[in-house]
Amino acid sequence: MVVMCDLLQYLMPLQPELRLSTRHLDFFVGHICSAMPFEVCGFLGGVGGEVTCVFPVPNIAPEPACGFFMEPQTQWNVMRVLSELGLDMLAIYHSHPPCGSNELSSIDIANACYPEVLSLLIVPTASGKIAHLRAFSIDGLRVSEVSIVVWS
Ligand SMILES: [Zn+2]
Repeated sequence: MVVMCDLLQYLMPLQPELRLSTRHLDFFVGHICSAMPFEVCGFLGGVGGEVTCVFPVPNIAPEPACGFFMEPQTQWNVMRVLSELGLDMLAIYHSHPPCGSNELSSIDIANACYPEVLSLLIVPTASGKIAHLRAFSIDGLRVSEVSIVVWS
């Protein structure tokens, strides 16, 4: 049975896209504006690439204007809630400083420890609007961009 599960996981195609609603984007804008100029982070939960909920997690990086580190207790609580709700952890999101790079940093890539979980990067403008929104699949040092579909 275990072999079957592993085989199915291996044969499953990678998620072709991440689907978000404009409601989620509004949430990101609010979250980013509340923490400006610091980076924000959190989880996106859902099923089959469709985001149904957003869980912000406090950023406790020593220099939160140029990196993020999730507060462990909240991270653990969110993972438990996702499991209880039967939702997949679809993505970890984080923002970059206003008008910052729209590429993942080497630290972002090195710290990505869940290959099956996408990384969503949000780069705001100076006024807190979304300038760039990109999703990536990270497996070791292999990074590939994933399409994002925003629906309203
Ligand atoms: Zn980053």
